[in-house]
Amino acid sequence: MADDRHITGAPIAAAGGNAHRLSIVVPLYNESAGLALLHERLSRLAEKLRQHYALTCEVIYVDDGSKDTTLSIARDLPADTIDVQVVSLSRNFGKEAALMAGLDHAGDGAILFMDGDGQHSPDLVEKLVSHWIDDGYDVVYTAKANRNNESALRRVAVHGFYALVNWGARQKIPEDAGDFRLLSPRAASALRRLPERNRFFKGLASWIGFRQIRVDYEPAPRAHGVTSFSAARLLGLSIEGLTSFSVAPLRFASLLGLLLAFGAFLFGLSILWETWVNGESVPGYPSLIVGLMTIGGVQLIMIGIVGEYIGKILSELKARPIYFVAEHDIKRTSHRIDTATVERATSE
Ligand code: UDP
Ligand code: MG
Repeated sequence: MADDRHITGAPIAAAGGNAHRLSIVVPLYNESAGLALLHERLSRLAEKLRQHYALTCEVIYVDDGSKDTTLSIARDLPADTIDVQVVSLSRNFGKEAALMAGLDHAGDGAILFMDGDGQHSPDLVEKLVSHWIDDGYDVVYTAKANRNNESALRRVAVHGFYALVNWGARQKIPEDAGDFRLLSPRAASALRRLPERNRFFKGLASWIGFRQIRVDYEPAPRAHGVTSFSAARLLGLSIEGLTSFSVAPLRFASLLGLLLAFGAFLFGLSILWETWVNGESVPGYPSLIVGLMTIGGVQLIMIGIVGEYIGKILSELKARPIYFVAEHDIKRTSHRIDTATVERATSE
């Protein structure tokens, strides 16, 4: 019931409500090299947030079937100032599934998603939390301040992707927004209610609405290792995002079909004109072949696009779980804050 009230947006206190918990979800795939350092930084952050905002923090490390020692390192991390959950998935399911696993294991407070490779700096988190608690925002998302270090081709591709996905959409997905974002308790509970299996987090977190704010930041270079998102995988992810989020490609297909039909009609008229008015005979073979190839090519593209959607329907219909958890460890800090401390801190 409480959930319903949150979703319908009935005037619950501030966006922060009185939930004094923050769950930090960190997906990990082969991040053994930097994990200990990241945990140290998160522990310091938790201490700061406890002092400034009386927030109790927990971190949820989701090991997405890493092939290195990520899992054993994660299990040994100390829970000095921050509660630690380690959720290990039964295999590599991909980042979106790992984020979902984190969301499912998080408490009902606010949720922060951040990468485990050091690119999302814990130093920025205080600012995100302040937008949530002090300013009452529900979705605080970060966006790359600039894309100067990326190739022109990639920039054009990204721009094209967002133009297509936002085409005709009521709620536009902000371009450049990353997965580093904070969701207030009610935004997190809204996100949990979306039933689809094909998850495109950036899109969903924007789709739910509420009060959203953008924070520009400069992602740090990867602390170690290499990105697991190659150009081919990014392309796959874009098609995934596009088809699970928007029907723009289908509309594009219909439009293209219309255009072609219109072009063919004009071409037909011009042939009639040439034969009847000018009395010239139109060369049949070349025009036939060109027409055939155009129609053939376009039809194949259209079938491909429709096929993508049918694939999506199939995977939603099968309703398989998004991930499986192999192991789940929870470590709680010894010094919990008692309620009295929390109340004192909030009334200040
Ligand atoms: N990641 C994951 N599962 C995967 C691939 C990546 O959980 O299959 C995690 C990875 O450990 C990191 C985050 O997702 O914490 C972002 O991955 P990466 O840095 O490779 O992507 P990029 O920053 O280049 O977009
Ligand atoms: Mg990265």
